Amino acid sequence: MITAERKPMEELIECLRPYHRILLVGCNECVTVCSAGGRKEVGILSSALQMAFMKEGKTLEIREITLERQCDPEYIEELVTDISQAEAVMSMACGCGVQEIAKRFKEKPVFPAVNTSFMGASEQQGVWAERCQGCGDCVLGITGGICPVARCSKQLFNGPCGGSTTGKCEINPDIDCAWQLIWDRMKALGIEENYEKNMPPKDWRTSRGGGPRTIIREDLAK
Ligand code: SF4
Ligand code: SF4
Repeated sequence: MITAERKPMEELIECLRPYHRILLVGCNECVTVCSAGGRKEVGILSSALQMAFMKEGKTLEIREITLERQCDPEYIEELVTDISQAEAVMSMACGCGVQEIAKRFKEKPVFPAVNTSFMGASEQQGVWAERCQGCGDCVLGITGGICPVARCSKQLFNGPCGGSTTGKCEINPDIDCAWQLIWDRMKALGIEENYEKNMPPKDWRTSRGGGPRTIIREDLAK
């Protein structure tokens, strides 16, 4: 899923200062799972903003709504009435959701309430870790299911850098060395021969190196 964290209150208050009536929009998908921008977080932020403005002797009217998916134009249409009555919008979705609102409602200022972070998985309650960078040419089948792009600090494709100590990464000793994990997994799977194979230089055009990407499914596109 896409992970995100709420921005600091001071930053949110600052961008809403010129307004008296806003629409606060959450999303029921990834940001709900990582407790950053679902219905519950919309309610919490709404109360916190109103209290902060009250302390300054101002009022901020907030209408709350949480969409099924903010990155989908079909659901964005549900905002039409509410948005017409608001001076500005604050979105608690990832950057995709914020941009969908900006695209549909060109005349309305839209502010992100969260910092979109990475594609990750839940390690334990309240802890998410980066797992994929969407490189567009997945090598997990070769590396035993451990991603060298997202999990090796140097994005090495042909073995470790040599700086790892007791299985930890030399760049950040709090994280496991990805290549230690890859090697352990290759051994467990009996595919150690993959470790000896040289992976060719990666074509980063399938990743962000080729600019913004689009997927077109001819069978689905109208
Ligand atoms: S190899 Fe690429 S697509 Fe596969 S998990 Fe890593 S970043 Fe994601
Ligand atoms: S210690 Fe391991 S994870 Fe860290 S940069 Fe070197 S090979 Fe990559």
